[in-house]
This record gives sequence, C-alpha cells and structure tokens, in this order.
Amino acid sequence: MILTGSNDFKLINDSLPAGVNLLAVSKGHNHESIRKIFSYGQLDFAESRLQEAIPKKNNLNDLKQLRWHFVGTLQKNKVRGVIKEFEFIHSVDSLPLLERISRISQEEEKTPSIFLQVKFREDPNKGGFLKQDVLKSWSKIISLKNINLIGLMTIPPLALNSSQRKDLFCECRKFANHLELKDCSMGMSNDWQEAVEGGSTWIRLGSLLFGKRQI
Ligand SMILES: *Cc1c(COP(=O)(O)O)cnc(C)c1O
Repeated sequence: MILTGSNDFKLINDSLPAGVNLLAVSKGHNHESIRKIFSYGQLDFAESRLQEAIPKKNNLNDLKQLRWHFVGTLQKNKVRGVIKEFEFIHSVDSLPLLERISRISQEEEKTPSIFLQVKFREDPNKGGFLKQDVLKSWSKIISLKNINLIGLMTIPPLALNSSQRKDLFCECRKFANHLELKDCSMGMSNDWQEAVEGGSTWIRLGSLLFGKRQI
C-alpha cells in the first residue's frame, strides 16, 4: 500500500493512539514531495544524509514550522553539520559519538534532542549500543552537557517475523521505562503496527508515505 492522497495520510495519522508521533522519512524524495505531505499537516521530517538534506532544507526555507530529524548513520566529520541542521538525532550509536555531539553542541550553543540507538539482538548489519553498554556508561551518558536525552531508537534485524518484532519493541519500551526515558523511536513502513502495539512514540515512515525512493 502506498499512501498518495491526503485521505490516506489522514487514515493512518488518525489511527495512531495518543502519544504516537508520525515521522515522515523523506530521504530519496525531493522538496516538492515534502511540500505535499506538509500540506496534509505533517511537520516532522527525517533525513539520513546531511548532503542530501541541506539543499532540500534550503528549498523549504519558507516553511518555518518544519522540524528536522536525523536518522542515518552519523559519521564523525558530519556531527557539526548535523547539529546545525537538525533538532533531533535518532541514530546515536556509541558513547564516543555522543561525547562528540556534546562537545560540538556546546561550541554551537545547541541542545539537540537525542535517541540512543540500541541493538536488542545480534545484528552484524547494524550499529548501536548493547543494553549492557548503556547500563555500564549510564552515569557518564547523563552527565554530558547540551544533550537532551529523550529516548531509545531501535531497528529489528530483517529476519524477524511480526511477533518477534513486537517482542523486540516491547523489550525496547521496557528498557526505556527502566531508564526513565519517555520516547521510543521504532517502527517503519513494514512493522509500524507492531511498534505501536509495543509502545512506540515515534514511528518512522518512508515508503508508505512517499512511495518508492526517487533520488
Ligand atoms: C529509511 C529509513 C526509514 C523509513 O523506511 P521505510 O521502510 O521506507 O518506511 C526509517 N528509519 C530509518 C532509520 C531509515 O533509514
């Protein structure tokens, strides 16, 4: 199913329980597609590459209400640019990266809202903290300046079926509650319903909203 009209967008948006936010992942789509989704009332958009995001954001400069989220792998040399361009970073996958974000955020006088990306299953294709790493580094993590730590982000391994995904999402929700973090960024086009059942507060939808990637 691809949602192409405002009625479809409304259908999915209205079906979300209170407290579940929709993040429109616009990577691979141009600024005109973003304008269309914006015209349905969507304000939160996500990109996964800084170089792709900057020209689009420039084209959308007139839309001051938009909130930008970074969801891609964040390379060291892109940290400053991402801090300047994005209010939210969902993909902080290591302590050294978080420390770097803290240091550069202080220099830039910014305080980005941060999700720690956590891996709840072995997955050689994905980065992320292991649960025990988060626990071990917790006192350090919460001591860092200019970091608004709001939640955890997770992506299940591709091989998991629907009920295994839901179990993983529940595990993430439980761990976030244990850490007293409000948000869980989880669920994509193929598993957002399981994520909502598992306690997601941010579902990240790309292809379901925008169709196949164009760029
Ligand atoms: C691309 C991407 C999405 C959206 O994926 P779809 O399957 O197209 O919904 C969500 N989260 C991250 C981190 C992504 O890179």
